[in-house]
Amino acid sequence: MILPRKRNGSVVQSIGAAILVLVLLLLTACGATGSANAPAAPGSERLQVLATTQQIADVVRNVAGENVELTTLFGPGIDPHTYVATESDIVTFDEADVIFYNGHHLEAQLERIFEQMGRNEQKTVVAVAEQLDGTALLSWEPESGLPNDPHVWNDVRLWKEVVGVIAQTLSDVDSTHAATYQANAETYAAELDELHQYLLAQVEQIPQEQRILVTAHDAFGYLGRTYGLSVEAVQGLSTETEASTADVQALADMVAERGVPAIFVETTISPRTIEAVQAAVQAQTGNEIIIGGELFSDAMGDTGTEAGTYIGMMRHNMDTIVNALGVSASLEE
Ligand SMILES: [Zn+2]
Repeated sequence: MILPRKRNGSVVQSIGAAILVLVLLLLTACGATGSANAPAAPGSERLQVLATTQQIADVVRNVAGENVELTTLFGPGIDPHTYVATESDIVTFDEADVIFYNGHHLEAQLERIFEQMGRNEQKTVVAVAEQLDGTALLSWEPESGLPNDPHVWNDVRLWKEVVGVIAQTLSDVDSTHAATYQANAETYAAELDELHQYLLAQVEQIPQEQRILVTAHDAFGYLGRTYGLSVEAVQGLSTETEASTADVQALADMVAERGVPAIFVETTISPRTIEAVQAAVQAQTGNEIIIGGELFSDAMGDTGTEAGTYIGMMRHNMDTIVNALGVSASLEE
């Protein structure tokens, strides 16, 4: 089964027809081998859960712990906008009892596969961001024909609602552990409340006129709206199309005009676009503009590092922003 979107968006024909045909053939082949509706493999009683992003996987880990067997599709540094499924991914999707993906076109090349998978009655497929109230979400660029900005994890309050969606889904599918899932979700939600307060307090350290976040692609709209930063990017909400020289120059003009002290690279995107902005600003003004650090936009850090958890990643990003923008030029000796 598949949970419907709260707000319908138009279907975007972004997958090449040939790829879709191949995927559908693979799906048919997987079904024919009998694995599609099979119960858990021998020796494995646990629910098989697949999460696309590390952010979603971290919620599943906090809510379900060892009660499920979790597979994370995207590792550190992987760009979800452009990721194309391999044949072995299709087999992994097919073996999962539950698939959680972000939706709202984040996994642009995979969404039709997941919609197809959701027609299997034995499988639960949920686009977590599409379960949120559409009126609480930011819009995509009007010309895209798409409804909402998918980067919802950058508003901790929205992400807390996603925790509720994931806990409820797991409770419905695996009612034996429902009480555990609900209790864990409440504990984790309290940690997210603390994180939200931390981020609000951190922004206060940046002088008002320097609260401008300049990045390679537009992943931080929700962070800006929630925590009070003006957000500008070279590329739009997706990385599916390349940045143009005109995009770079337009952003460099804005950075020069507003005297932005630092700009930021992202872990899932080549630093070249931001370096191009840096060079254009220097050529224009003669002033050096620093690269304020690396932000985790669409993927988190390695397991075991600070940014390897959602909470750690959010703190890392805000701390990096505050360190680079929080120094008021007028206060320096
Ligand atoms: Zn993105």
